[in-house]
Amino acid sequence: MLKENYSSVLEKVAAAAVRSGRDPKDVTLIAVGKMHEPKELQEVYDAGCRDFGENKVQELTGKIEVLPKDINWHLIGHLQRNKVKYIAGKTTLIHSVDSLRLAEEIEVQTNKLENGSLVSDILLEVNASGEISKFGIRPEESIQLCREISALRHVRVRGLMTVAPYVDDPEKNRSIFRKIRTISLDIRNANIDNVSMDILSMGMSGDYEVAIEEGATMVRVGTSIFGARDYSSQSSG
Ligand SMILES: *Cc1c(COP(=O)(O)O)cnc(C)c1O
Repeated sequence: MLKENYSSVLEKVAAAAVRSGRDPKDVTLIAVGKMHEPKELQEVYDAGCRDFGENKVQELTGKIEVLPKDINWHLIGHLQRNKVKYIAGKTTLIHSVDSLRLAEEIEVQTNKLENGSLVSDILLEVNASGEISKFGIRPEESIQLCREISALRHVRVRGLMTVAPYVDDPEKNRSIFRKIRTISLDIRNANIDNVSMDILSMGMSGDYEVAIEEGATMVRVGTSIFGARDYSSQSSG
């Protein structure tokens, strides 16, 4: 079942990439397995998926321990500074950086590893929809934050991420995705040292096809692959 779900989403991702004039290989489908068991993630892995996203540090580190070593792990949820030490060096990409202080902590913790030879790739989380999310920087702050983070030697900004509102009609989010893409182009044109803008992480189960049409290079899909999440047993921590 999960295999079929994954294949079906992968096909839609590829079709949307082609519609936007791109190679399907240029769009990464990240399977968001939060609140699902490792054995479910393993099923999707067996179907060929190598990119998985989690939104909580503890769940991420637990799954890293028990799942195959060649998985690219993406931290997509809010990250507290005191938890950076648990994930430094373990993720392919941290999608949710929204302050200089957080980036500085990632710098410090990354520098402690492998004799200081590692660099952590990050995205800036931009809140393009106003009040909907409490996380993310305002669009007009993003270029300045890129400039500040560019001074850090063990952190590299690779692009932008956004969480669009939950909507019944994905077309309602098209302008948000377009706006994020415009911001990323503006930043790219500013040619900031140590900052590249090759990744746009946007689009979830309800709107990933529209996001790809507007330039997403990574989509984060949970429900359409794993089914609905059961929040009833969740602890408050
Ligand atoms: C849960 C989550 C997703 C996936 O959401 P679905 O609607 O289940 O596809 C994507 N991005 C973030 C940041 C999430 O927390």
